[in-house]
Amino acid sequence: SLFQGLTFLTTVNDLKALPNEGIEVAFAGRSNAGKSSAINTLANHTRLAFVSKTPGRTQHINYFDFGQSRRLVDLPGYGYAAVPEAVRKHWQGLLGKYLETRPNLIGLVLIMDSRRPLTDLDRVMLDFFLPTGKPVHCVLTKSDKLNNQEKVQALRSVKDEFKGNPQITVQLFSSSKKQGVTEVEQVVGGWFEE
Ligand code: GDP
Repeated sequence: SLFQGLTFLTTVNDLKALPNEGIEVAFAGRSNAGKSSAINTLANHTRLAFVSKTPGRTQHINYFDFGQSRRLVDLPGYGYAAVPEAVRKHWQGLLGKYLETRPNLIGLVLIMDSRRPLTDLDRVMLDFFLPTGKPVHCVLTKSDKLNNQEKVQALRSVKDEFKGNPQITVQLFSSSKKQGVTEVEQVVGGWFEE
């Protein structure tokens, strides 16, 4: 399946250094939301994406390859408080510009902690990306930390917010329980087939 063949391609530190060729799906999320764990779980690989013990130090863009010129872009986690504000602002600006203008980008996977989805910065990222008209898949991770009622509420809170907007889909995910893998594969696989 799609993510099983994922391999590391390159790391870039500047938007100008992004590859010109290929099409890509970006994974974005607040620092500590569980993005690296989700990528590793999807790839069924323990250390493909680096799960940082010092979040915010990983201020670079990692490219992974699905094959056939299809890429996964692991964007730097945003919002980490211990990073100086000027650095945070700089990266938020770069992320916004990337989401707004990157022609190779075909869809955004937005990783959010299911206990607190749609933080202010998640909304800032969506404000940059939604006008492109490209699809967004919201992955509410760490769902193993929620009971059934809380899971329903988390899904509903995001769905209600974007009611009627077919550009946005939502699912629950758990890296520790490996739940939700097939759903992500279907959505992202579908984007590459369009
Ligand atoms: P990132 O900064 O978004 O890449 O987040 P990480 O993948 O490094 O995860 C941040 C923290 O959340 C780590 O301590 C992970 O072990 C934990 N975590 C990530 N995903 C899950 C999950 O699905 N369930 C639980 N219980 N913990 C998780």
